[in-house]
Amino acid sequence: MTEALGCVFCRIAAHQAPAKILYEDDQCVAFEDIRPRAPVHALVIPKKHIAALDAGLETDEALLGHLLVVSARVAREKGIDRSGFRTVINTNAGAGQTVFHLHLHVMGGRIMHWPPG
Ligand code: AMP
Ligand code: ZN
Repeated sequence: MTEALGCVFCRIAAHQAPAKILYEDDQCVAFEDIRPRAPVHALVIPKKHIAALDAGLETDEALLGHLLVVSARVAREKGIDRSGFRTVINTNAGAGQTVFHLHLHVMGGRIMHWPPG
């Protein structure tokens, strides 16, 4: 699996950094966000290092779809599917991306306001 040197999410995917893992398969890992912004706040990441959604992902369509399916599964297992959950990808610094390994936020357990700030 491609791994970027010093990337904390690559380290979590390789079980070399601690995380509360909620789901894992050969393509992705879901784990609790270390600084939750909602009662439920999980992250879903590909095991493969992809810096951001604008990385030219034409050959990764199946993987991207899989991440969405897993996000819904995590929401269901966390019991926020019926009440509502938000799935967010921040791309680049202006949108709030701070970790440059693609991740989907899965958030819920409270009213989610729109538009996000
Ligand atoms: P973003 O700002 O969209 O790049 O989101 C990065 C998210 O990763 C933030 O919500 C952080 O709280 C979270 N985060 C950073 N480091 C870790 C870590 N080691 N384990 C779990 N979550 C992390
Ligand atoms: Zn990485």
